[in-house]
Amino acid sequence: MESYDIVVIGSGPGGYVCALRAAQLGFKTALIEKYDTLGGTCLNVGCIPSKALLDSSEHYFNAAHNFKEHGIGLEKLKVDMPQMIKRKNAVVEQTTKGIDYLMDKNKVTVYHGLGSFEDKNTVKIKKADGEEKITGKNIVIATGSKPNYFPGMEPDKKRIITSTEALGLTKVPKSMIVIGGGVIGLELGSVYARLGCKVEVVEFMDRIIATMDSSMSKEIMRALKKEGMKFNFKHKVQKAENTGKGVKVTALDPKDKEVTFEAEYCLVSVGRKPYTEGLGLENIGIEPNKKGQIETDEQLRTSVPHIFAIGDVVAGAMLAHKAEEEGAFVAEVIAGQKPHINYRLIPNVVYTWPEVAGVGYTEEELKEKGTEYKTGSFPMKALGRARASGDTYGLVKILADKETDEVLGIHITGARAADLIAEAVVAMEYRASAEDIARMSHAHPTYAEAVKEAALAATDDRALHI
Ligand code: FAD
Ligand code: NAD
Repeated sequence: MESYDIVVIGSGPGGYVCALRAAQLGFKTALIEKYDTLGGTCLNVGCIPSKALLDSSEHYFNAAHNFKEHGIGLEKLKVDMPQMIKRKNAVVEQTTKGIDYLMDKNKVTVYHGLGSFEDKNTVKIKKADGEEKITGKNIVIATGSKPNYFPGMEPDKKRIITSTEALGLTKVPKSMIVIGGGVIGLELGSVYARLGCKVEVVEFMDRIIATMDSSMSKEIMRALKKEGMKFNFKHKVQKAENTGKGVKVTALDPKDKEVTFEAEYCLVSVGRKPYTEGLGLENIGIEPNKKGQIETDEQLRTSVPHIFAIGDVVAGAMLAHKAEEEGAFVAEVIAGQKPHINYRLIPNVVYTWPEVAGVGYTEEELKEKGTEYKTGSFPMKALGRARASGDTYGLVKILADKETDEVLGIHITGARAADLIAEAVVAMEYRASAEDIARMSHAHPTYAEAVKEAALAATDDRALHI
């Protein structure tokens, strides 16, 4: 039986980064993945394929609606969905093969098969051609998550689909009901709306992306409505039925009256749940909590001290970059280092167009905490760069402590918000004041100038270009 210093179960962004960092630190490392390709949800059926389709559909939407204004004429524009999916698959393949290369380069031993605990140090790997057992001085559970659904809306994967099937449709549907106006609902809803599908979101809360700053919800909703998306709020979906030709979705409206929606497809995007099936947790005395998460301490150790858990399978944001941080963190803890993750400064991004990004406290959270704060906002449309590209939607909003001027939150809707938020993270990691950002030179013309201007506005209402 082969023995390792660290055995990682699951090769998503949490698991493969953990394996890489462990190998860098000189540990003999094994990575177990039940699927044939590495990279987990993120690379295979999450972040990467969704962004490939978002980019392709955005090109189409721009060609159909915005090129003319730029002086570009196109005739007989059409969507070649099989080609769009083929390209997306190629992007996924290149990306997952990149992980094979990295494992090879760093001498991580990869096992393909279902990993399950025999005991606290032994993992059995059930492979297509038999079984193998390996041992680990330390074991890291990085088994991720699966799409969630509630009773009555079980996905049949034909008409009632999850994000996984929505990433592989080879024909643009005529219509789609999206249950849940969270990140997946908006990103994948937007892909299909741009391609000409009638998309209607049915959301339980009173706004979309309800965990982000509410002014961002309002701003992005205006842009998505322009793409043709429709929204129903305070509607609680009760059931979704495959009618043969399509789907019927039943919901309770704000007055608790039953209403129905019909469409060709229904995308169930009501969150994701931790995945621990087949892992044999019962053999090591670990029981997931009510949410299905594996509980850990601040070092991400489970109740068995040499067994760690990271990423979507533990508490916290279900984000690839959070899982990555935890992967590196655990390898460093095992090496005896003292790493740190600032969970408050993990940015959230929605890759619609314009993009939405936020880090730190939202205005709603500051109100709830009773913190005295000031705000500074700056609209994208006042930027020369935004006018040049035609991306005039959105704004930057900075929340700063009223007394100390320390930046407490930065929220952006606009072109390249996903990249702009990195400046906000750096500033907040160094506990910058709004004045600090306001006094830094920002290249002209860029979208980043809106961050400087919002900081000027927050400092003492001294934005220059408005
Ligand atoms: P996962 O990526 O889920 O990987 C877990 C791996 O473990 C899987 O490969 C699984 O097969 C394997 N596994 C499970 N059990 C076993 C076992 N017993 N033995 C062997 N292997 C096992 N996040 C972002 O930050 N940005 C985005 O843009 C983004 N877009 C997304 C889009 C979609 C459509 C979806 C669904 C998710 C998206 N996410 C995004 C979320 C992101 O994918 C997850 O947060 C991230 O993948 C979690 O990483 P992980 O390593 O914890 O788990
Ligand atoms: P989500 O938690 O973002 O949104 C789910 C939405 O469904 C919520 O707004 C909720 O109010 C609503 N909902 C729940 N039950 C409902 C019901 N019965 N009727 C109507 N609405 C209902 O979940 P998601 O969009 O499925 O995404 C899952 C996870 O994947 C998220 O945690 C997210 O972090 C991650 N993800 C991230 C990205 C990104 O970073 N860009 C992209 C996709 C997914």
